[in-house]
Amino acid sequence: MGKMANRRVVVVGAGIAGLSAALRIRQAGAEVTVFESSDRVGGRTSSETHDGYLYERGTQFFTSTYRNALGLIKEMGLQAELRSTSPWITVFNDGRPHRMPSGMLFGVYALTSGLLSVRDLARFTWHTTSLRWPALDNYSAWAAYDDQDAASWSAPRLGRGAEFLLEPVLAGGMMQRIEETSRACALAVLAMTANGRSKDLTLARGNDSLPRAMAARVDVKLEAPVQAVEAAPDGVTVRLSGETVHADAVVLATTASVAAGIYRAGDKIERELMATPYGSVIKVGLATKRDWSHDPGLSNVWAMMIPRGARREIVSVTIESAKDPERVTRGGEMLNLFVTADNAERMMDWPDEQVESAVAADVERLFPGAFAAKQFTRVVRWREGMPKSPVGRARALAEYRRTRPRDGRVWLAGDYMGMPWLESAIETGTWAAGRIVEG
Ligand SMILES: Cc1cc2nc3c(=O)[nH]c(=O)nc-3n(C[C@H](O)[C@H](O)[C@H](O)COP(=O)(O)OP(=O)(O)OC[C@H]3O[C@@H](n4cnc5c(N)ncnc54)[C@H](O)[C@@H]3O)c2cc1C
Repeated sequence: MGKMANRRVVVVGAGIAGLSAALRIRQAGAEVTVFESSDRVGGRTSSETHDGYLYERGTQFFTSTYRNALGLIKEMGLQAELRSTSPWITVFNDGRPHRMPSGMLFGVYALTSGLLSVRDLARFTWHTTSLRWPALDNYSAWAAYDDQDAASWSAPRLGRGAEFLLEPVLAGGMMQRIEETSRACALAVLAMTANGRSKDLTLARGNDSLPRAMAARVDVKLEAPVQAVEAAPDGVTVRLSGETVHADAVVLATTASVAAGIYRAGDKIERELMATPYGSVIKVGLATKRDWSHDPGLSNVWAMMIPRGARREIVSVTIESAKDPERVTRGGEMLNLFVTADNAERMMDWPDEQVESAVAADVERLFPGAFAAKQFTRVVRWREGMPKSPVGRARALAEYRRTRPRDGRVWLAGDYMGMPWLESAIETGTWAAGRIVEG
């Protein structure tokens, strides 16, 4: 506490990574200010309510393997608001949904549904039981596996599981092409989804209850876009419109391209990481007057994945009532329809109505009658939706962490400095805070 008392730290970005950093630095006794460009905190963890429907604009769920997120939920007094989703998801193939438990993709249900053969399951078990799973929050710890793309690694080892289970999770949950993704990221996904133990969770008043509670404990300035961060040996200058702030250290917790625009003097490894590409996301939230829980294969199912052999415009879907019945009005439903990353890039600037009509036929195929039962739609766009994990990024992260000087002034945080999920974004902010505090 003592040595931080007279230190001033600026955090750029009030997403979960920036807020995690700010909270820990504040707790260590430093003065900390978070500058956020938009009019709300939470970034890509953002929830909205409309006409009695609660839906997530970004982060859809946590899992019980998220130690950092669950720790923060407890610390913020939000434990009573945790809700378990239904344990069921479905894979849409051969023109119909195949139901299976979400925490055990490679299991007996994948066999009985015909998605995997006994040989596929045996091969999966053989090739994965000997692996040592590093922590699910720190991508740099996966550097030893960051040597090959996920497609060439999984095809001979997972059999049909590569196409029917792994590829749909990467494409539908992370907007990544399996050929362009490191096996390190794919293995981390398998560690999270195939262990048979994890439960999927949400927060009753929206997943952004967590960043909102964290923001209430630190000084956050909204609508305060940072334009430049310039480091010098004695401190950092932070330029905003009409204001210049001096700090001892800065945590830059925006998405990668924004960080690159703000922090132009980054060294080679910083520049490499700030060039991380993203998969774009367009999500069409469709509120309907009926639910689909009586349709075969959809009973109590909260998520649908669509393997690429069966894929058209939609790559994945979440079904809000099966996350928590309180999220929708009685007898209604909210379908969150995720457009494929390629389509999202193509449709990013289209008007909402054009996006809706482009996906309508595919929605009808997956949920017959859904548009006829429409109450309202909400189209959400994230140009930088989810950071991609090409081969080499985990190794670059390991090098970044190994080579930062103890008295570094600018620290990069955000999910592109980890894995493309909330738990890892928290770790990156907490790690940056730890380095500043340890100084
Ligand atoms: C549609 C979608 C669904 C997802 N689903 C899940 C899921 O189910 N589970 C899961 O674990 N993860 C999920 N994720 C990923 C998860 O949302 C992210 O990993 C996490 O929210 C990233 O947090 P962050 O703090 O790194 O970045 P962000 O949340 O993007 O925060 C960056 C912040 O910086 C601000 N900013 C930008 N420019 C400036 C500037 N110049 N000055 C000041 N501030 C600035 C932004 O406004 C933003 O608030 C999903 C993501 C998306 C897009």
